[in-house]
Amino acid sequence: MFDYLIVGAGFAGSVLAERLATRSNKKVLVVDKRNHIAGNAYDHYNEDGILVHKYGPHIFHTNSKDVFEYLSDFTDWRPYEHRVLASVDGQLVPMPINLDTINKLYGLKLNSFEVEEFFESVAEKVPVVKTSEDVVVSKVGRELYEKFFRNYTRKQWGMDPSELDKSVTSRVPTRTNRDDRYFTDTYQAMPLHGYTRMFERLLDHPNIKVMLNTDYHDIIDFIPFKEMIFTGPVDEFFDFKYGKLPYRSLEFKHETLNTENYLAAPVVNYPNDNLYTRITEFKALTGQQHPKTAIVYEYPKAEGDPYYPVPRLENAELYNKYKKLADQTPNVHFVGRLATYKYYNMDQVVAQALTLYKKLTEKSEDTARKPAISGSTELVDKLVSRDPAKP
Ligand SMILES: Cc1cc2nc3c(=O)[nH]c(=O)nc-3n(C[C@H](O)[C@H](O)[C@H](O)COP(=O)(O)OP(=O)(O)OC[C@H]3O[C@@H](n4cnc5c(N)ncnc54)[C@H](O)[C@@H]3O)c2cc1C
Repeated sequence: MFDYLIVGAGFAGSVLAERLATRSNKKVLVVDKRNHIAGNAYDHYNEDGILVHKYGPHIFHTNSKDVFEYLSDFTDWRPYEHRVLASVDGQLVPMPINLDTINKLYGLKLNSFEVEEFFESVAEKVPVVKTSEDVVVSKVGRELYEKFFRNYTRKQWGMDPSELDKSVTSRVPTRTNRDDRYFTDTYQAMPLHGYTRMFERLLDHPNIKVMLNTDYHDIIDFIPFKEMIFTGPVDEFFDFKYGKLPYRSLEFKHETLNTENYLAAPVVNYPNDNLYTRITEFKALTGQQHPKTAIVYEYPKAEGDPYYPVPRLENAELYNKYKKLADQTPNVHFVGRLATYKYYNMDQVVAQALTLYKKLTEKSEDTARKPAISGSTELVDKLVSRDPAKP
């Protein structure tokens, strides 16, 4: 008999498996329907021997000392600060928009004060900022909105920014200095030997069994367990009782090129010209030396693996109906990006899993007084997400 059946071997499932096995001596079965561990953070060496991220570039960044120190028990790190260029009007300019972006784009020589005045002069007055369009035009005006945000967002989300919640573009800062780092978190690094190696170490414990290529539906009636931790899509768990929660998906087109370097930055965004949103060159993230280089194009699409919950009010309301069901389901704990229908970064999911672990142990110490827990977010929400990844 397993103490826990954990559905999903991504960050949420693997962190909980590790804690429960090593700290609480619980017997854990982790199942994943994919043929690998690490969830969307999975990386592997391609046929040319270049380390690539199967599901698009994953950059680790966090402001949480606890999360960084926790993961540091399972990996060494390569210091890495992410940088992105956007292809606009035939030029490659820093993204998020900063002083250099404006000067290069318009052939100007503004200083920080002048560029602040420039933004003020082009910003539109928006009485109540509600949508993603409002956020941007009220900060940098319509022209920059059109050049950097409008079409990128339409490609990424299949919707106009005026139809999307303000949270999508609120993530993207505008800078009046020359800081061209994509993130400004305290801790920014890549796992030295890759994410999958880190997950192998997380799951390497005699109390943990891992079954891959296994949908939990196929084993749930045969394998005895006491409690379940579910990190898959919450609507699927409840057989889509209230309808499907909308997700945006991506198609990844991986290529290996017979050249040592290809891009002028680790990632180049294409806000306008192409069907893909961005190209990533993996060696720039991993620091690997290799005579060839591997890149990936991202093509957003409506159908496919669920990647991004679509941030609209009606979807949040639909999720709340599922959350009520989840809260009433005894002995099943919902955690992670799909089970709580939230756009979480990796560090937030780790924080969410550590919080749930704490509650589970408090609960097992005093089961009589405490109800079952699902999808706790309190610590996670303290982590300010500064991910400008998806304008
Ligand atoms: C393109 C892209 C880029 C990203 N870039 C970054 C980044 O740069 N930095 C960052 O911090 N975060 C990034 N993220 C977010 C990051 O991927 C997530 O925060 C993290 O992977 C979430 O972990 P999770 O365990 O909640 O979910 P997942 O990693 O999705 O794991 C859930 C697992 O559950 C399994 N599963 C689902 N249903 C079943 C079932 N019925 N039976 C068995 N198994 C099942 C799935 O196969 C999956 O492996 C990115 C995400 C995407 C899509």
